[in-house]
Amino acid sequence: MTPLRIVVIGGGMAAARLAERLGGRSDVSLTILGEERHVPYNRALLIAALCQPSLLSSLALHTQRWFDSRNINLQLAVRAVSIDRRRQNVVLHNGMQVPYDALVLATGAIPVVPLISGARGCRDYRIGTIWRIRDVQRLRAMVRHARRIAVIGGGALGVEVAAALAGRCGQVTLTHDAPQLLNSLANAAVSAATAEQLRRHGVEIHLGRPVREIRRRANELTLIVSGGTAIDVDGVVLAAGARPATRLAAAAKLEVDEAGVVVTDTFASPDDPNIFAIGDCAATGSRGQALAAWRHADALAEVFGAAPGGRTYVPVATLRVRAPGVDLLAVGRWQAGASVLLDDAARRTYAHLTVEEGRLVGGILFGDTRRAGRLLHAASRPWSAVSVSSLLFESTVRMPAPRDDDLACVCRGVPVGEVRRLIRAGCAVDEICRQTGAASGCGSCRTLLQALIDEGAADAEPACHGVDAAQAHR
Ligand SMILES: Cc1cc2nc3c(=O)[nH]c(=O)nc-3n(C[C@H](O)[C@H](O)[C@H](O)COP(=O)(O)OP(=O)(O)OC[C@H]3O[C@@H](n4cnc5c(N)ncnc54)[C@H](O)[C@@H]3O)c2cc1C
Repeated sequence: MTPLRIVVIGGGMAAARLAERLGGRSDVSLTILGEERHVPYNRALLIAALCQPSLLSSLALHTQRWFDSRNINLQLAVRAVSIDRRRQNVVLHNGMQVPYDALVLATGAIPVVPLISGARGCRDYRIGTIWRIRDVQRLRAMVRHARRIAVIGGGALGVEVAAALAGRCGQVTLTHDAPQLLNSLANAAVSAATAEQLRRHGVEIHLGRPVREIRRRANELTLIVSGGTAIDVDGVVLAAGARPATRLAAAAKLEVDEAGVVVTDTFASPDDPNIFAIGDCAATGSRGQALAAWRHADALAEVFGAAPGGRTYVPVATLRVRAPGVDLLAVGRWQAGASVLLDDAARRTYAHLTVEEGRLVGGILFGDTRRAGRLLHAASRPWSAVSVSSLLFESTVRMPAPRDDDLACVCRGVPVGEVRRLIRAGCAVDEICRQTGAASGCGSCRTLLQALIDEGAADAEPACHGVDAAQAHR
C-alpha cells in the first residue's frame, strides 16, 4: 500500500506531538517543514531560558535523531510560501515543491506588533518581540549592552519579561495601556500585588497610558507615552499578545477569521477536506495553550488512524506567571461560568475557582500555589470528588507524599513511580525530562521533579502537577 503523504507546515509544539503519534507508521509518510533552525522545542519555557541560559539547550522536545529513527522527514529552516491546492503541493521559499495527500497547517501564532508609530516596519535590532529562540538570544545580547529597557505590554508575557530583565540591566520600564496588569488573569488586588512586587525589584510601571510613539535616534530610543511623558531607553521588548498565523491559509482561499483557520470537528478546513489546521493557528478558541495544541494533534492523529491515546485524565490548560514575589497559576477553564473567590488581603493570597454543574473546572491561584496539585487534579479528572471547600479550607500542610501511580507531569502523563525509578538510577532533572518528556508542556513540574530528587522530598507537597493522592484514591 502506498503510504499516505502527510505534510505539516510548522515545526512547533503541535507538529512535535503529531510526530509522536504518527511517526514510524508504515502506512504514513510524514514530512515536517519548519521555518526555524531548531528542532521543535518547548516555547512555553522561553522566558525561563532568558533567566537561565543553560535551559536553552534543553528546550528541544525531541532530537533530530529521534525524528530520523521514526522515518520522519524533518526539514528545518524552510519556509512554506504558498499552497497549490489543485496540484496538492506546498511551495517552499527556495522554489522546491513538496507534494501531499493531506496537509496540516501548524503555523502557530505570530506576536502582535502594536500600532505605535516607530515600532512597525523597522529593522532595528533594539526593538523586538519575544516568541522564538532567536528572540531570546537577541535579547540576551541586548541586555549585555543596554542600560535601560522598556517592555510594552503588561499581560502575562510582559510581566514575566520585565521580571526576568529586572536586575539584569540598569532600569526596566513596563508600560501597559490597561489600568491593571495581567488583564483577565487578575483582579484589582492581584494586579496591585504584582505591580508592587515588580516595583520592589526596580521595575518602573506606567499603567493606563498607551505608548504613542517610539522615536529612534542613533544611540537612544524615546518612548512617548500618552500625556506626553518621554522615556529614554536603549531597547524595547514588544509583549502585546499574538494572533494566529493564517497568511498561507488565506492566500490559498481557505476560510480564516480573527480566531484562526476555520476548521470542522475533525480539524479539516470546510473548503478542502485534504487540509487540516491544529494548534495556535486553528480557530478553536484555545490559542496560546500548549496543551490545546497537543490535544488537537492527538485528535487529528486519530483521524489519520492512530489508536486513541488511552489517557486516564483530561488534559487541561495551565498558565504560570512567575516573577520575584509573584506566583500565579491558572488551571483548566479559569474563565468558565460561576466562580468562588477567596481573597486574603492580609497574606496577599487569592484563589478564584470556577465551577460548572457543581464541579471544579479550573481556577487561578495567586501567592499560595501549594494547592495547585489538587486544583489540577480536579480540573483534569471530571470524575474526581475534589470539592471547592476541601480545596480552599483543608490543611495542605500534611499532604501525603505522592504515590507512584500519581502523575508527576500531567501534560505528558508521567507517573511519579517512573520518575522515582530514574532517580534511583541516578538521573538528574534534565535527564528525567529527556527520558520521560516531563516538563515539556508548561514546565511547572520541574519543581516537583527537583523536590522528588531532594533528600526528604517524599514528604513535600507537589508543587504543581503532583496529584493529591488522598483525593485521587478515595
Ligand atoms: C513566551 C511564551 C510563553 C508561553 N507560555 C505558555 C504557558 O505557560 N502555557 C501554555 O500552555 N502555553 C504557553 N505558550 C503558548 C504555547 O507555546 C503555544 O500554545 C504552542 O507553542 C502552540 O503550538 P503550535 O505548534 O501551534 O505553534 P508553535 O509552537 O508556535 O509553532 C509554530 C511553528 O510554525 C512555524 N511556521 C510558521 N509559518 C511557517 C511557514 N510558512 N513555513 C514553515 N514554518 C512556519 C513557526 O516558525 C513555528 O516554529 C507560551 C508561548 C510563548 C511564546
